[in-house]
Amino acid sequence: PPDVETLGRSSWTLLHSITAQYPEKPSPDLQAETRTFMSTFAKLYPCWWCGKDFQAWMKMDGNAPRVSSRDEFGRWMCEAHNAVNVKLGKKEFDCNKWEERWRTGWKD
Ligand code: FAD
Repeated sequence: PPDVETLGRSSWTLLHSITAQYPEKPSPDLQAETRTFMSTFAKLYPCWWCGKDFQAWMKMDGNAPRVSSRDEFGRWMCEAHNAVNVKLGKKEFDCNKWEERWRTGWKD
């Protein structure tokens, strides 16, 4: 199986890329499907302790997926990633820059 770091980098690339292409005005159905996707993703994530902690984090007050627009979902994913960064003792990412990193590309 892939190691936890390689798996993690690929998974964050997938997750942030999904938020980058998410509609600016998602239908109520898509919003519901997106919430289900995140909880199923955490359940199936092939590093069981990672998925377990991620599920627990999403259940904490204020941490449920915010999926009402691309900007909300992108920022929520950034906060979710930051929660894992903190857990692992990594630097937090500036969430004002999520779109520059994952959608529009860095300026310069
Ligand atoms: P990553 O953290 O993989 O980040 C990749 C790139 O994303 C960075 O180079 C940066 O450009 C960008 N980035 C960083 N932070 C953010 C942010 N907040 N928002 C947007 N972009 C950002 N590993 C464990 O050892 N234990 C765990 O419990 C664990 N749980 C995980 C849970 C989930 C749901 C996922 C997807 C991964 C988990 N990982 C876990 C893996 C871990 O998060 C990292 O992917 C791995 O340690 C490799 O880290 P990295 O420093 O290469 O960069």
